[in-house]
Amino acid sequence: MAARASNSVQPGRFRVLKEGTRRPGGEVGGGPVVYWMFRDQRWRDNWALIHAVDQANRADAPLAVAFNLFDRFLGANARQLGFMLRGLQQLHREIEGSLGIPFFLFEGEADETIPKFLKECGASLLVTDFSPLRTIRQCKEKICERVDDSVTVHEVDAHNIVPAWVASQKLEYSAKTIRGKINKMLPEYLIDFPTLQPSSRRWDTTHRSIDWDNLIADVLRKGAEVPELSWCKPGESAALEVLMGNENGFLTKRLRNYSADRNNPLKPKGLSGLSPYLHFGQISAQRCALEAHKVRKSYPQAVDAFLEELIVRRELADNFCFYQPHYDSLKGAWEWARKTLMDHASDKREHIYTREQLDKALTADPLWNASQLEMVYHGKMHGFMRMYWAKKILEWTKGPEEALETALYLNDKYEIDGRDPNGYVGCMWSICGVHDQGWRERPIFGKIRYMNYAGCKRKFDVDGYIAYVKKLVGEVKKRKAETDLDKEAKRLCC
Ligand SMILES: Cc1cc2nc3c(=O)[nH]c(=O)nc-3n(C[C@H](O)[C@H](O)[C@H](O)COP(=O)(O)OP(=O)(O)OC[C@H]3O[C@@H](n4cnc5c(N)ncnc54)[C@H](O)[C@@H]3O)c2cc1C
Repeated sequence: MAARASNSVQPGRFRVLKEGTRRPGGEVGGGPVVYWMFRDQRWRDNWALIHAVDQANRADAPLAVAFNLFDRFLGANARQLGFMLRGLQQLHREIEGSLGIPFFLFEGEADETIPKFLKECGASLLVTDFSPLRTIRQCKEKICERVDDSVTVHEVDAHNIVPAWVASQKLEYSAKTIRGKINKMLPEYLIDFPTLQPSSRRWDTTHRSIDWDNLIADVLRKGAEVPELSWCKPGESAALEVLMGNENGFLTKRLRNYSADRNNPLKPKGLSGLSPYLHFGQISAQRCALEAHKVRKSYPQAVDAFLEELIVRRELADNFCFYQPHYDSLKGAWEWARKTLMDHASDKREHIYTREQLDKALTADPLWNASQLEMVYHGKMHGFMRMYWAKKILEWTKGPEEALETALYLNDKYEIDGRDPNGYVGCMWSICGVHDQGWRERPIFGKIRYMNYAGCKRKFDVDGYIAYVKKLVGEVKKRKAETDLDKEAKRLCC
């Protein structure tokens, strides 16, 4: 692994989305640099921030960070938005307090708020995070159209270790086809982060303070149907604690059994627990990989298995969403899978459940109900159960399109790490065979890989998992009842 002394990012790490017109002398405008942050919500180990600081310092221009709070982005609820805003509140303190970079928060549509802000401050360069998701890409296209001709727009992939456009220039078929390409590029991209150099020019206009308490109270009220989680602390420091804290850090305390335990839903601590932080960008996957490499000598098998998920599988998901415009519909499945699913679309189903019945975990299968309840109440279903859960939805809905829509709806509504390329690909893998192969043909599933209750029983203690979830749900309900009582007591006292 190479160390990197330079403060600039590698040329492959960013793309020019729009080239601003140059001044008569040929130089770019000397206005401020704005970093519109959205997917990589952190100040540590963030290539987009490093790039923005570097560009500002080169042009001797001031730098600001802007964040746009969309209205219920991709259906987010209190669970996801509360986690995100509490993380941003900490980030705001750090970025202004430690780095001296002003942080602006806007509400509404980013394709309106960001161009407006750039105009007001006379910015010359906009740096943005990369996301393969449709809404964000469309939003960026509009931003590029709306900003002044003089503004340049750079997009930095600070989320993947190997930038999505460098890893592969096409839609990959499976982990097997992308693994070699990613591994080849790792020596160039899996490098140490430079120390962030504070911006040399200060932002001189004043900016509004942010009323975080009010903002958080508002999203909690609007998204109350899916409440916040108490076990998952938001923010960069909490993320680093989960990765390598002294108390129960993944690399420090739990890594040893990763390969053996990660498919056992009764041992949720066997997994890293990093997905909420990775999803909101509160931790960099590159930091996780660099730290994992440091302990590889002691636990080679566990580290290799973890890196396969963290790098290959995760970056394969970004590849799918980046190159497949129909990443969340049956149209995005390969021809063989679409055909086999349609051939079996009208096969007789033993049970057909409505979305409401599934949402409320009212099926005849206690194992499936437990996994649904784990997601509804705990906010993070075990990775192994996610496969079983989605495949059963295919078996119990009217057809594959409805199955996929229902799985995505429930996943994104309840999972703290939902609304992510990993989620779209997870559901597409389970229901539409994406990144998988054809299997022996059977009713309803056709050639899509099948999973059933008996198979789970052979793999882990199914009754133990059901009892574990029951206990978990009981504890959440008890905590909620106590909080409600507290609130009521406070109300009566006032
Ligand atoms: C139907 C279904 C839905 C899913 N929905 C989501 C989702 O909404 N958000 C999400 O982040 N993941 C999703 N996954 C992938 C996976 O189940 C989770 O990433 C994992 O359970 C998160 O827990 P962890 O971080 O403790 O896992 P670990 O095993 O510790 O993995 C570490 C990291 O590797 C990545 N990773 C692990 N498994 C996968 C995978 N199969 N595909 C891509 N990346 C992976 C994740 O970023 C994860 O945080 C889904 C999988 C399926 C089958």
